[in-house]
Amino acid sequence: MKITIAGSGAMGCRFGGALFSAGHDVVLLDGWPEHVAAINSGGLRISDETGSRVIRVPAALFPAADPADLVIVFTKATATASVAASAAGAIGPSTLVLTLQNGLGNIEALRLYVPDARLLAGTTTLGTELLGPGHIRALGSGETVLGALGPEPSDYAERIVLTLSAAGLPTVVTDDALGVIWAKVAFNCVMNSLCSIASIPVSALARYDGFDALASSILREVAAVAAAEGVAVDIAAALRLMKAQFDPAASGGHLASMLQDLMNGRATEIAHLNGAIAARAAAHGFEAPLNALITQLIQLLEATWPRRVSRLHSDRQ
Ligand code: NAD
Repeated sequence: MKITIAGSGAMGCRFGGALFSAGHDVVLLDGWPEHVAAINSGGLRISDETGSRVIRVPAALFPAADPADLVIVFTKATATASVAASAAGAIGPSTLVLTLQNGLGNIEALRLYVPDARLLAGTTTLGTELLGPGHIRALGSGETVLGALGPEPSDYAERIVLTLSAAGLPTVVTDDALGVIWAKVAFNCVMNSLCSIASIPVSALARYDGFDALASSILREVAAVAAAEGVAVDIAAALRLMKAQFDPAASGGHLASMLQDLMNGRATEIAHLNGAIAARAAAHGFEAPLNALITQLIQLLEATWPRRVSRLHSDRQ
């Protein structure tokens, strides 16, 4: 299968590398020249707990040149609209497009370039870090869930599930892709944002007695917006999923990706998480004040992170 990865950071390289190793004709498209040059000169290095290997998968800078059978979009949600435009050359009349990105708004941005009938969407719990140009670290195991968005039945989702699973990326099909995406949005609107505001690993949330009340208040706003868009978010199930992550054996010591973005001076996906909840609530004619406040607090952190105080200076004048 001819596969274009549109946005080849940590996750794009993980999926692209696995699909290339499984024998597919893959190109990693990205906008970071040093990263693309490193992959083309020295190969893509993938490190994991068993060691390190190099995969000779080709990479190129945007824009996409020719149509692929499958385009996997793996930018941050903040870049989906611009990357979709740069990848449009890879989307022909029979191309399938898949997004497994976090946040709201990715599907809407991609719909401008591909009809719902050929658009697949879902989530993945595979964790991956970009260590530097041409080098990723694949973390543990995880599952990918995807489904079709089109109104007509098709076997597209099943086909891509088989393709990914055969490449060592365990994937299952869902007939409720939007429900799966909203469940992860709900999770991230609480866990990513609270861990970032408090600057704590996920496991530290377990120490806060007020967690259930705070998380439930945020989730009620998320569920109200989802309901306005015809999607059910199960608040009790979302809380159970979050608390399962408190166990250090699960991902307790893990730093939320939003906190990692702040620490690395990168823009967060806040506008596509709590920010999207606040904006969509307003569009539906009601308010989501907690999500609006959380959005502003994260934006405050984005603007001021290098100046934050992490210890008392004994040498202060
Ligand atoms: P990423 O930050 O690794 O890469 C995103 C883009 O940023 C890429 O185009 C990359 O080249 C560019 N980039 C990164 N560092 C750069 C630098 N120093 N200079 C210039 N460009 C740079 O993104 P990701 O972690 O692969 O996430 C993609 C999507 O998948 C997001 O929506 C994310 O929330 C979601 N996701 C990520 C993970 C994960 O473990 N990484 C897991 C599940 C879902």
